[in-house]
Amino acid sequence: MRQIDGHTRLCGLIGNPVEHTISPVIHNTLAEREGRNMVYVPFHVEKGQLRKAIEGAFALNALGLNVTVPYKSEAIGCLAGVDEIAEKIGAVNTLVRTEKGYKGYNTDATGLYRAMRSEGISVEGEEILILGAGGAARAAAFLCVSKGAGRVYMMNRTEEKARKVAKEVNDAFGRESVVPMRLEDYGALPAGRRYLAIQATSVGLYPDADAAVMEDRAFYERIHTGFDLIYRPSCTRFMKLVRDAGGKAYHGLKMLLYQGVEAYELWNGTSVSEEDVIIVYDKMKEAMGIEE
Ligand code: NAP
Repeated sequence: MRQIDGHTRLCGLIGNPVEHTISPVIHNTLAEREGRNMVYVPFHVEKGQLRKAIEGAFALNALGLNVTVPYKSEAIGCLAGVDEIAEKIGAVNTLVRTEKGYKGYNTDATGLYRAMRSEGISVEGEEILILGAGGAARAAAFLCVSKGAGRVYMMNRTEEKARKVAKEVNDAFGRESVVPMRLEDYGALPAGRRYLAIQATSVGLYPDADAAVMEDRAFYERIHTGFDLIYRPSCTRFMKLVRDAGGKAYHGLKMLLYQGVEAYELWNGTSVSEEDVIIVYDKMKEAMGIEE
């Protein structure tokens, strides 16, 4: 246990619920590795208390906050500034202290990018399928277009939602990059190529681990790489179906890792070494009982 004293800086997570988070493993391990006098604590914030929580943290001189479900969009209204890409996405997950209040960032998107890069997956020029049109899918779509992906097909159960997100992304970048589709219409995807697929629905999340958003083998034969944002379980049914059809598949724990690493870097004005990233990742896997 590190010494807490009068100089200890506070960072934390606000959300509801926060009880199962493993973010403290990321930040407290990094602080310990770097000998930084900082602690990271989760705070369960009740509905209607978000503004008070953010203003209270600022008044208490807290260095920074992470924001999780259900407050990632609502938090924007309580900030002194918002980073450009986070503003486009319409959601923040990291608040960085400035003189006048907190500035919001979205390290979910950049964390996803760093996670994919660390697995050797490139987005630039790729034809991409994004499954889902919720908050995570939206961040993924902004990321892919901002990094110069080719066409991005946003495939969702509710087509209307995919259409709305696609329009917002296309309007933000001034080009028609995102094409909304219903999942079951995958047969209409341009033939003769295989795709990178980002699984951003909540289907398959523990304890519903036997489910996948799509079962058809013909769909999975169109995928060369599947990146599931879900990390609990560490091998989802989606990942298994991708592998069975000959593709490579990854879970989302590295996205969680890198969104945390990037938040830590923003708070502390530092760049975390690759050696420390690996140590943190091992600790996260240990905390989750993942052996690979
Ligand atoms: P969300 O906003 O609630 O969106 C959920 C999405 O899943 C929607 O597109 C929804 O489709 C779809 N969906 C839900 N149930 C479905 C079903 N039975 N059949 C077909 N589609 C279904 O959730 P989110 O915040 O985007 O999160 C999505 C996933 O990403 C979660 O599992 C979350 O744990 C994961 N995530 C991981 C990280 C990480 O760091 N690795 C970060 C963020 C999120 P409709 O529009 O039709 O309802």
